[in-house]
Amino acid sequence: MAGRIRDDDIAEVREKARIDEVVSSYVTLRNAGGGSMKGLCPFHDEKSPSFHVTPSRGFYHCFGCQQGGDVFNFLMEIDGIGFTEAVERMAEKYGVQLRREDGGAPEAPRGPRRSQMIDAHKQAQAFYADALGSPDAVVARQFLDGRGFDKDAAETFGVGFAPRDGDALFKHLRQKGFSEEELVTGGLVARGRSLYDRFRGRLVWPIRDASGDVIGFGARRIFDDDRIEAKYLNTPESPIYKKSQVLYGIDLARREIARSAKAVIVEGYTDVMACHLAGVPTAVATCGTAFGDDHARVLRRFLNDHDESRGEVIFTFDGDQAGQNAAMKVFRSDQNFASQTYVAVAPDGLDPCDLRIQRGDEAVRELVENRRPLYRFALENVIAGFDLDRADGRVDALRQAATMVSSVRDKSKVEAFSREIAQMVGVDVDDARREVRRAASRPARSSGPVRQQGRPTTPPPSDLAPQQPPAPPLPNLRDPRFSIERATLKLVLHHPALVAPAARELTPDDFTHPTYRGVWETIAASGGPAAADAGWAGRLRDAATDRTVSAVLTELSVEPLMMSKEPDLPYVHAHVFKLMELTATRRLTEVKSRLQRTDPLEQADDYNKFFAELMTLEQRRRHLHERAMGAP
Ligand code: ZN
Repeated sequence: MAGRIRDDDIAEVREKARIDEVVSSYVTLRNAGGGSMKGLCPFHDEKSPSFHVTPSRGFYHCFGCQQGGDVFNFLMEIDGIGFTEAVERMAEKYGVQLRREDGGAPEAPRGPRRSQMIDAHKQAQAFYADALGSPDAVVARQFLDGRGFDKDAAETFGVGFAPRDGDALFKHLRQKGFSEEELVTGGLVARGRSLYDRFRGRLVWPIRDASGDVIGFGARRIFDDDRIEAKYLNTPESPIYKKSQVLYGIDLARREIARSAKAVIVEGYTDVMACHLAGVPTAVATCGTAFGDDHARVLRRFLNDHDESRGEVIFTFDGDQAGQNAAMKVFRSDQNFASQTYVAVAPDGLDPCDLRIQRGDEAVRELVENRRPLYRFALENVIAGFDLDRADGRVDALRQAATMVSSVRDKSKVEAFSREIAQMVGVDVDDARREVRRAASRPARSSGPVRQQGRPTTPPPSDLAPQQPPAPPLPNLRDPRFSIERATLKLVLHHPALVAPAARELTPDDFTHPTYRGVWETIAASGGPAAADAGWAGRLRDAATDRTVSAVLTELSVEPLMMSKEPDLPYVHAHVFKLMELTATRRLTEVKSRLQRTDPLEQADDYNKFFAELMTLEQRRRHLHERAMGAP
């Protein structure tokens, strides 16, 4: 490194480097038309892709966070490396010989270079893989053999053996010209009284980043006299190894994850191997830490799950308590995934590796195919803790399950979950819904601010104990979904006499926003609009027990109607009957769903009952629709 790299060489590298190819090691890109591609931005948190790459011009730009530049900027930003190193990496990848200019000041070194640390890991991997064939490694080979992995499998995954002597790798790599600093900073060598190999007498798996570079190792204890008790040791945090983001197997799985929009999360290195060998090529595992928000973010960029209906993340968990706790933890952070989250649990709690040994490849594929939605798994776990044959047991189970569901931020799912709970606990859907609403309106336990975009704090991996999820804030009263509820209540408050006849059949269930429901309940408790007289408004405010309800009651009484002329009966009917029609439609959906879950032969009585209800409801809905449209 005599001096600056020549400008024309830099230009040549820039021209030859394919930015779409480089970016694809971090983000799944899709065609965006006009010669451009897009994906989820790796520099900020987002749900829909605003990160664009234009291969023909060699640029990327994010319309969300305004990050942008050429291929060098991208590498500098995402891997935290310097300009020179970015140029060198691309030169090597795309076969450009770099020449240096004399006299120019070389870039000041900032600790060991990423490329050197990567290279050291590559050499270490080859060294370990070689050692797996040595006489000392017989226990290591037996371990692999006992888990159904032959020589081919070991080679495919680059598995190796770290010799038992204290500094065999250190000496080997020093001989190859790596500096002590590079080896220590990268984590291959540890510093005690002297320098020694971090992994000794262990079976080692190379951990690769998405582009296939080895960035660390996972090492399993195989000797009884290993002085380190831990079953697994992993590379410590380093400039190239970030354990909160590393996914073992991502280099092999990422293309298939992008193609199938599926990812399978397993718990260990052998499980990843077993899955891939059994025909589940989308399997990855975290390395020595629980699956966290950062992992979710990394995975999401490969899934590119911007479309709600696409993207499945399937977790395989043990059926035991630890696995259930892990599932609960994921459930609470599930919000990170726009994709559907599933759980696959083997019948007798076998992990994929054991399953493959005992039942073969087919059983592993079946395990993944027989996945269940995570929320159902989590709900079942919660409900299983109660005696549902007792009335108080059902009440408690309902309350617990409702609390869980109320933490789900995707409100479109809450209704479906409420129905599931009702079925699992054996209570009425309305009761389940009411309980969920109640849970949602309970004040959040922690009053912390809504998590900020960017770098949220991830709970430590040991934090697996179930905790109360914070209740989400109520939906906005001005949300268009509730506009007809709002308008109807205003009509009732401003023109009670005109509205009273039509409003006789209104019920609390016609109001889906808890606050509007509260307002209606207050009105009903005060005799309804038919009882309106001079003192009505005052009585209403006194009757409101909830402060929010009381405030909204006043607001609605004061806010003018959205029309200039006085409302007439057709206008009133277009609101009141429409509202009731919507309720009937919701009930219809419910009954249809029940009907679907009822076997017409086995449960003939229920089936006939639901069917009759369906007919009645359908008729009622039609009738309400006609009245809303102006029929007398
Ligand atoms: Zn961005």
